[in-house]
This record gives sequence, structure tokens and C-alpha cells, in this order.
Amino acid sequence: MDDETLAAGLCRVCETPLFNSAIPRKDDETFAVCASFECGNFIERHRNLPINLFQSQLQFHREQLRERRLARAENEARIQARIVEEEAENLRLLEAAQQAFPGLSQQSASLMVIPTGRTRMVPVSSERIENYRAHLHKVIAEARSFACASDIPQDDQNWAPREKNRRHENVFRDQPEVELVSDHLCGMCKGACCSSGRDHAYLSPLSMRRTMDENPALDDDQIAALYLSRVSKGSIEGACINQTSSGCSLPKEMRADICNAYFCDPILEYQRACAASAEVLPVFAVQREYLSAATISPDTTNEVLATALVRSSGPEFMDPLED
Ligand code: SF4
Ligand code: SF4
Ligand SMILES: [Zn+2]
Repeated sequence: MDDETLAAGLCRVCETPLFNSAIPRKDDETFAVCASFECGNFIERHRNLPINLFQSQLQFHREQLRERRLARAENEARIQARIVEEEAENLRLLEAAQQAFPGLSQQSASLMVIPTGRTRMVPVSSERIENYRAHLHKVIAEARSFACASDIPQDDQNWAPREKNRRHENVFRDQPEVELVSDHLCGMCKGACCSSGRDHAYLSPLSMRRTMDENPALDDDQIAALYLSRVSKGSIEGACINQTSSGCSLPKEMRADICNAYFCDPILEYQRACAASAEVLPVFAVQREYLSAATISPDTTNEVLATALVRSSGPEFMDPLED
């Protein structure tokens, strides 16, 4: 095969160095390609074409690859620029907070970006109530097959969040104010992580068995009624049935362990920092729709929606900065 673009050690299609990721072609080394599915696929589909046709198809394909690579690089550069821009904006906001709250600079406040949950309240439909009721009865029936919560085998997947939850409880016992700060931050966020709770609220036989153990006189219908009585008339659209504009309507002790155990990364980092310093640091929270520009398209806006200084006593919201 006569090919002026053929170079030893490069993928025959995309021309990246082959290194160890090469797929050797025993029958013909001129068809050696990198590990990418696309390159292997191109060779398989075109290798038997007459040489001129093969060459022109290859050129066209390489041009497309080049354009796609350029577009990807441009996109990544825009994302990086947005990350830097957001970080600089977060710092400017922190500096403004340090001016507004005397003494804050000495307190090493943690700068934290928190996301935002959905906010539109809608009436809870009877269909959602019935779905929730059906789920409750299903998990209650499963829970009845165990004499008590500790009878549920430890290898059951529901034990993992339970264990995680116990670890949080131990940390919060030493630093109860860290739990308060975390709860205030979740209240400000309005449960961005609760949107997939839908009409099941993650309630499992283990959660039910625990509530049943605490209320031994209640039968199955009464246990279900206990949960149903906590559903508000309105809930956040597209979120868990228990999510309201003022937070979760279920008391913590009735929630699934996964609900009590889950904290997003910024809050976990804060909790670790407080444990390491044995200090309960104030948090300067910058609320955006998304945690980081790194996870969204550079065309999606991610404006600052609110800022607040959050201490165990609650959040103190700040006025938006003038441009
Ligand atoms: S854990 Fe994070 S995402 Fe979930 S409610 Fe709290 S702040 Fe929001
Ligand atoms: S039960 Fe409460 S904490 Fe759990 S997903 Fe629903 S709203 Fe969120
Ligand atoms: Zn390749």
C-alpha cells in the first residue's frame, strides 16, 4: 500500500502514537490502529476498498476527527475559564462578607459552594399518595417477616447507609454544632439531593421495621397512616413526596437511613475539616444552581443565587453584590 500519510508507530486512522494501546494486525502492519473503537471500526469497514477510495475516505474521516478534537478542546478551555471565573467570584464574595461581618477574617470561615434544589410547590396528587401508600404497604409487609430490625441480615444493602449514619452520629455527638450547620446548609439548598425520592422516599423494610419496633402497638395500616400523615398538602414539584418548601416533612427518626446518612461532598469536606481542627468553623455559603462549572456545559448559566454566613444559630443572608 502506498500512502504518504503512513508513519511508523502512529495509528493508521487518527495518527496518535500507538504505544502499548496498539491493536496489532497480524495480517498487515499498515493497518495498525489505536485502541479506539472508532479507529478499529473505520479500518474494518474500509480496508478492502481500492487504494484511492480508501485514501479519500481516510482524509475525510481525519478532517472530521480534527474538527471534533478542536471543538472538544475549545469546550474544555471554556469550562476551565468558567471554573476560574467562578472561583474568583466566590473569593470576591467572601471578601465582601469579611467586610460586612467584623471578625470573620480571623475565624477562617469555610468557603462552600452549595447547590439548589427545586423550589416550585405543587399540590400532592391523589395518584402520588396512592403510589406512596402502595410502597409503604410493600415495605411494611417485608418488614413483618422479621421479628425486629436487628433480625434483618447485616449483609442486607440497607445496612450500609445505617453504618454510615452511625459514624455521622458519633461525629455529631462530639461536635453537635457541626450537625446544626450542616442542617442549615441543607435547608438553604432545599434538598438538591432529594429529587429522586419520588413516591418512595427511599423507605426500606429496615426503616419500617425500626419504626414498627418503636411503635409495637400499631398494626400495618396504622404504621402506613403514620407516614401518610406526614405528607403535606403541597410538595416540591418533581421531587420526593416529603419535600416541602421548608424542607423534609418527615422527622429524622422516621426517614430512611440513606436520607440521614447522605451529605454532598462540600458538606462532607466541611465536617472533616471541623473534626481535624476540633473547631466548629462558620461557613460562608455561595449558592449556585450547580456545584461546579466543571460538571455543566459552558453554555449553561450558573449564577450566584444567594450568599449567607452560616453558623449553628442559622444562616445570615447577604445582599447581592453590585456589579
Ligand atoms: S446534602 Fe448537599 S445536596 Fe443534599 S440537601 Fe444538603 S446541601 Fe443540598
Ligand atoms: S424523605 Fe426527606 S430527606 Fe428523604 S428524600 Fe424525601 S425529602 Fe429528602
Ligand atoms: Zn486511532
